[in-house]
Amino acid sequence: MIGSLSHRTLLQPRSLTDALKMLRDEGPLVPLAGCTDLYVSLNFGTLKGTRFLNLWGLAGLKDISVRGDVLSIGALATHTDLIRSPLVQKRIPMLAAAAREVGGVQIQNRGTLGGNVANASPAGDTLPVLAAADAVVVLRSAAETRRVPFTTFYTGYRQSVRRLDELIVGFEIPAIHGRQWFRKVGTRAAQAISKVVIAGVAPAGRAGSVRVALGSVAPTVVRATRTEAALAGGATIGDAQRTLLEEIAPIDDIRSTSEYRRRVAANLLARFWADAHRK
Ligand SMILES: Cc1cc2nc3c(=O)[nH]c(=O)nc-3n(C[C@H](O)[C@H](O)[C@H](O)COP(=O)(O)OP(=O)(O)OC[C@H]3O[C@@H](n4cnc5c(N)ncnc54)[C@H](O)[C@@H]3O)c2cc1C
Repeated sequence: MIGSLSHRTLLQPRSLTDALKMLRDEGPLVPLAGCTDLYVSLNFGTLKGTRFLNLWGLAGLKDISVRGDVLSIGALATHTDLIRSPLVQKRIPMLAAAAREVGGVQIQNRGTLGGNVANASPAGDTLPVLAAADAVVVLRSAAETRRVPFTTFYTGYRQSVRRLDELIVGFEIPAIHGRQWFRKVGTRAAQAISKVVIAGVAPAGRAGSVRVALGSVAPTVVRATRTEAALAGGATIGDAQRTLLEEIAPIDDIRSTSEYRRRVAANLLARFWADAHRK
């Protein structure tokens, strides 16, 4: 049943400071960015919140810039912003590749990076990229700013360390050395949620370290650190694949089966490693 709008309230902050005060003084409020995930729950009649905080007008949170050696991406940067950003293309092309795979053009124009992360679906396309990039989530409340390593942001299925009085304001991504790689396997090329999604970084010459992260294979995004160590230590791809299968725990669901996801994840790892060694 489609959820009704009549009993819901939308607060319209004029600035980030305003928004954080509203969260502190008038909460609990549900932050609303591009609304592409929230509208789905409204449509299914499962949207629980009644009071919403509209972030869409906070233009300062769309900024993409480099500070020192760190790429800083505002939470309200849309997938289209990521695809078009020369900084993203240059410094973290795997994020532009992931953004290109999110929904269709309309969803890319509205959906934000902050929304993808805060929504906390283990199938979110940008999540393995942020995990492999050693990204930091920047959280702000009226009282403080907290920086949380992306790999410790999620605490369980759709659970994170974000408090109700906090917003994700952006992401900080240190320089990445090595070759970046991203693949999404879904039912079709557009508008399909992933069956398995993977991001990897392979050392190029002496630069960089092996990084592998996957989505849709566990309750939260997985940074496969034991697999990384196996590859870095010169294990055969067969041994690394066996290690990876110990690190993931996919389930059967509406989109795929556990067995299929395990097979695809192992195949993608082999493809990543083969591509990494292609001249
Ligand atoms: C047709 C369709 C196709 C889709 N395809 C894909 C796909 O292929 N891949 C994929 O990964 N996703 C997909 N999605 C999901 C969605 O588009 C993305 O997750 C998008 O990035 C969500 O961003 P948003 O700004 O619209 O979030 P919203 O819907 O505004 O918010 C999502 C959640 O995040 C919270 N939130 C938003 N911003 C913040 C913030 N700054 N701080 C704290 N909390 C915040 C909200 O309270 C809400 O709980 C699809 C959705 C639709 C409708």
